[in-house]
Amino acid sequence: MTWQINQGDFADTGFLKGQTHLITGATRGIGLALTWELARAGATVLMLGRDEAALESLYDQIMAENLPEPVIIPLDLDTLTLEAAEELAAMIEEHFGGLNGLINNAGLLGSRAPLQQISDAEYQRVMRVNVDANVYLTQALLPLLQLRPLSTLIYTSSGVGAQARAFWGTYAISKFAVEGLAQLVHEENENLSDMRVFCVDPGATRTNMRASAYPGEEPSHNPPAEALMPFYRYLLSPTSSHQRGTRIKARLDR
Ligand code: NDP
Repeated sequence: MTWQINQGDFADTGFLKGQTHLITGATRGIGLALTWELARAGATVLMLGRDEAALESLYDQIMAENLPEPVIIPLDLDTLTLEAAEELAAMIEEHFGGLNGLINNAGLLGSRAPLQQISDAEYQRVMRVNVDANVYLTQALLPLLQLRPLSTLIYTSSGVGAQARAFWGTYAISKFAVEGLAQLVHEENENLSDMRVFCVDPGATRTNMRASAYPGEEPSHNPPAEALMPFYRYLLSPTSSHQRGTRIKARLDR
């Protein structure tokens, strides 16, 4: 489904105050913008990333603004196991008693090359980060999401997760898998709780990943990650409940 949001409609973030959300890939790009968005709205952000120094710096910046104390989760999703995800879930349950949102945002582009040229090592790495980590986090954290009313589980796809394009390699394959995972989780849980599952295609956004994918492109041609925040606010808000289980494109123009 392609769908445009009137950004002015979802300025209210009062519902996020006091909530707890886990964001993967919180150190950069869309995940970083989301971290600030949620922290400034009064939510506790569990910031997962592999760059510990970046996480610590972010922690300091959030504390300097007197926002709710975030939690640093230094984890390389390339090596995440189900056991480690379950350990994380136990810590979240102990400290917060549940989870209002899980935003599976972290992603790896991999090389843009014909399939024949993609090494097994790269194939495995991109699939581990883009797919396996989402599966393990979902398995471990689903019970915590279901403890909270109207919780939100977001998966992050891409245009090439719906329509493959030549030379998008493992990235395209992995995003098709993410779309399937989102559908499966929605189908299995829609009658068990009011949790909302969404599969998001953010559209071209001015981040490091976009610059790597299109090195010749003028970065200012694409909106910054902050421009996506009204869209995410909408998804996280109770207003979006009737659209749960859908694939949602943040922008119409791509
Ligand atoms: P960035 O590359 O800017 O940021 C990705 C984030 O994921 C970084 O914080 C990065 O950490 C983290 N990450 C990558 N690998 C790992 C890992 N192994 N363990 C933990 N964290 C990791 O990407 P975007 O913000 O652009 O992308 C966010 C999501 O949106 C991705 O899933 C992407 O596929 C999707 N998307 C983006 C589009 C765009 O135009 N930007 C378009 C369509 C989809 P680190 O800084 O340490 O690498």
